[in-house]
Amino acid sequence: MIEIYHLYKQYAQNEFYALKDINLIIDRGEFIFVVGPSGSGKSTLLKLLLRETLPTKGNIKIFGRDITRLKNREIPFLRRNIGMVFQDFRLLSDRNVFENVAFSLRVIGTSPREIRKRVPLTLELVGLKDKAFKNPNELSGGEQQRVCVARAIVNRPAVLLADEPTGNLDPATSMEIMTLIQDINIRGTTVIVATHAKDIVDHFQKRVVVLENNQLVSDQERGVYFNAH
Ligand code: ADP
Repeated sequence: MIEIYHLYKQYAQNEFYALKDINLIIDRGEFIFVVGPSGSGKSTLLKLLLRETLPTKGNIKIFGRDITRLKNREIPFLRRNIGMVFQDFRLLSDRNVFENVAFSLRVIGTSPREIRKRVPLTLELVGLKDKAFKNPNELSGGEQQRVCVARAIVNRPAVLLADEPTGNLDPATSMEIMTLIQDINIRGTTVIVATHAKDIVDHFQKRVVVLENNQLVSDQERGVYFNAH
């Protein structure tokens, strides 16, 4: 479902490589942790998958299409199929939970009727049924991250990307959020989580891809966190 071949990323000419010769194949329904020290290129990899930036060299195929060759007008179609969760939540502070989740449906022209149906179902799935009309600043960090997960999956994307989703959460809440993301994966969504939370990676026993010095140095089924600090 996701195929990455000889991927290089340099943010500026004659600069260092943020990613060097990355090769990676991810099948439909997989759950992958991307781990590595700060600066090793984890976020860059996720940004490349979302076509937020273009590689310097190499190819990325998603659903069989090389996304490095998409025309600008084709990018929204890619993004509809990929949900993204961020470390810092990025919720709209002047809108309630319902509206934050509805927003990603409104921008793609989903009908109000469909929105009224789908948003409550998604909020129920993430355990926030009773918080729909709260403002994000009335919620705990864990609840805010649940809103972000709801926003990322309300459009039923094939792929969910998460960039340090537990970076601002305490250990117990982190475990809850990762369990939620695991549930979403079990329901069929392909999941890629960039993190340096060792305890989480070791606990969930998923495929682990390690980036070090901006290169892919290890790719293990049921891996544990190692070498990366
Ligand atoms: P990680 O997510 O593992 O911390 P990043 O992908 O954020 O790593 O960064 C990889 C390298 O690329 C770092 O050295 C970082 O400073 C650099 N980098 C990231 N984004 C940019 C950018 N927009 N412009 C220039 N350099 C960048």
